[in-house]
Amino acid sequence: NRQWVLSQRPSGEPTEDTLTLIETAIPVAGDQQMLLRTEFLSLDPYMRGRMSDAPSYADPVELGEVMVGGTVSQVVDSNIDGFAPGDFVLSYNGWQDYAVSDGVGLTNLGKSSSHLSWALGILGMPGFTAWAGLKQIGAPKAGETIVVAAATGPVGATVGQIGKLLGCHVVGIAGGAEKCAYAVDELGFDACIDHKAADFAVQLAKVSSKGIDVYFESVGGKVLDAVIPLLNPNARIPLCGLVSQYNATNLPEGPDRMNWLMGQILRKKIKLQGFIIFDDFGHLYPDFATEMTAWVKSGKIKYREEIITGLENAPNAFIGLLNGESFGKRTIHVGQK
Ligand code: NDP
Repeated sequence: NRQWVLSQRPSGEPTEDTLTLIETAIPVAGDQQMLLRTEFLSLDPYMRGRMSDAPSYADPVELGEVMVGGTVSQVVDSNIDGFAPGDFVLSYNGWQDYAVSDGVGLTNLGKSSSHLSWALGILGMPGFTAWAGLKQIGAPKAGETIVVAAATGPVGATVGQIGKLLGCHVVGIAGGAEKCAYAVDELGFDACIDHKAADFAVQLAKVSSKGIDVYFESVGGKVLDAVIPLLNPNARIPLCGLVSQYNATNLPEGPDRMNWLMGQILRKKIKLQGFIIFDDFGHLYPDFATEMTAWVKSGKIKYREEIITGLENAPNAFIGLLNGESFGKRTIHVGQK
């Protein structure tokens, strides 16, 4: 049983010393337990926070513990009613081949193996984050302008597509021409601006000519700097993430602009609300599942994945995820050893 354990808390970007691959015996399922084999492991930006022991909404992974993560696993052996060998389950087994579970909180996905990984993406946590954050906090009305950062990732791509279904003008922000072309040509965004372009802020202002009513925030940094002056009165900001800062060791250099920001929020009567998806909106999950499943089935919402084979590749794949190297939902296919 291969397990990636946290061996060192990173300062800045995780390195090859952050996680160590160890081999342990495959556990045995006891009474009212089952043995699960990991098929897919989700890689998500929040994992960087779990590597740190700074105060947060969730406890850190302890040194020596298996790195946490959402998984789709297959039941190998079961002593629990309702879970049979061969069933696939949505689980939270982390970065390892096998785990024993008591079944609490797990969803049985059945025996069919088609699109299993979607339960970790569009039909799971990232899709739900986009759906709930946009609808509940962003509350966009037809004709309004939505700007969404990290626009081709699993959260951003979904936010923008829902915005189009709701009749909004949708502007994406992404890293590079290829991602921007995908957002417009494949996802149907009205425009997408490359945040690496020298005149990024000017281009953003041009395509947001009526100002911004909803800014779905996932990155922070210079993207946020460019958005703030373009916000309309009564704009809403679902504060979902700040990925440009996750590897930061210090606050950025420069003048303290906190009071300028607060002044903008006050004078424009902006609603800025942070949220942690299952803490705040868990009760809406069934509604999300119904609506999103229908959208995906009918082709109204598209979903792009980037599946990387091999548990051994998880650390490098994760480091790249934080850097913008991924294009679509980055998932590890663990599969049979
Ligand atoms: P993504 O797959 O979109 O990966 C993150 C993306 O952020 C990168 O691909 C990159 O895209 C972009 N990025 C990284 N660094 C920068 C930078 N310096 N400036 C601008 N963009 C940058 O991730 P997810 O869709 O899984 O998650 C998106 C956000 O949502 C994250 O912040 C995550 O933490 C948050 N989240 C929050 C939840 C909550 O409950 N609050 C739940 C789930 C996710 P590009 O190449 O286009 O720049």
